[in-house]
Amino acid sequence: MRDARVAGSIPDARPDETLFARIGAFLAAHKLTPDPAHYAFAYAVLSAPESALALRVDALTQDGVRLTRSDIERLGATVGDEPSTGGSRRPSGTVDTSADRTPDTAIALVIETQQQVDGFVQIVRTIQAETHGFGRELAESAASITQLAEIDEIVGITSAMITRIYDSEVRLAVATAEADSLRSKLVEARDTARRDVLTGLPNRRAFAEAFATRDREAGPYCLALCDIDRFKRINDVHGHGVGDRVLTAIGQAMAAECAPHLVVRHGGEEFAVLLGGIALAEAAEILDAVRATVAAKRFRNRETDTPLGVITVSAGVTAIHADEAAETAFQRADQLLYTAKKDGRDRVCAG
Ligand code: GH3
Ligand code: MG
Ligand code: MG
Repeated sequence: MRDARVAGSIPDARPDETLFARIGAFLAAHKLTPDPAHYAFAYAVLSAPESALALRVDALTQDGVRLTRSDIERLGATVGDEPSTGGSRRPSGTVDTSADRTPDTAIALVIETQQQVDGFVQIVRTIQAETHGFGRELAESAASITQLAEIDEIVGITSAMITRIYDSEVRLAVATAEADSLRSKLVEARDTARRDVLTGLPNRRAFAEAFATRDREAGPYCLALCDIDRFKRINDVHGHGVGDRVLTAIGQAMAAECAPHLVVRHGGEEFAVLLGGIALAEAAEILDAVRATVAAKRFRNRETDTPLGVITVSAGVTAIHADEAAETAFQRADQLLYTAKKDGRDRVCAG
């Protein structure tokens, strides 16, 4: 039940208003608390007014109807959705805890950074305005000084100038500190956006960047897709929490075994490895070593101390052809992984 009407559901973009201020107005107009989820929603709507999301919000609120929390949740589910890269084996019920979703910490960082940017801009504007006024006054003072013989007046003008310069210096020091803090927050936000929350490994976005910027002079590259065998059973028998820990332990073991090659969580219980400067046979050997390491591990449920039994992984490894799209190499690796599963699991299939 929509209980109230609000004028102007999406605030107009006026050039003198920052996006931050408009987000504030949006939240206030819809009586939404400024928590990270609402802020991210408002940001998505207002920063891309032509997007499907913004148009849906517009349609929903065009008669001045206020958005309810359930509207936000329903519409919010589409924010940040990324097209799946496919994969015929991905089950419909897959639990997605991968970092392809923006974690709350990243949203909080964006909010904080946005506030700092606004603060910073404000400081710089004040300094600019003051410097402008000060320059004019300086010119006027210089003109009066030439006509003045009174030393007291000259001292007065000079000390006013010194005070103004000192104030500007203090403001500039604050602005510099803000800029430094902003820079490190942006580095942190950039890292958070490229990391999987559960395993701590890099995520798909990190893989895409590494793939796009790989050094093509460094020799051949290979791609491996690695999937935990019968993982659903671990969840079913021991619970999701145990499943999460197994997933993390296997991811970490893979990263250690494959270093310095890049291991990312590709999604669900799948990992992708970008192996640089090595040929297919060597890449297959590395993946087989990973497979053997995982198979030799003896996992236990730490709450009940019961053994989880042998846990294995299967992998598909392929050489990346010059100039082919990542997606094409992924399709080949996926097909090889499928063959490894079909042939009995706990094996590596290269091609
Ligand atoms: P296969 O050998 O064919 O790969 O069998 P499987 O059971 O591993 O494969 P299936 O695709 O049937 O199931 C994958 C399971 O992985 C189902 C899903 O709930 C689980 N899963 C995906 N992501 C996570 C996660 O982040 N945590 C936990 N605990 N489970 C997850
Ligand atoms: Mg599996
Ligand atoms: Mg899978």
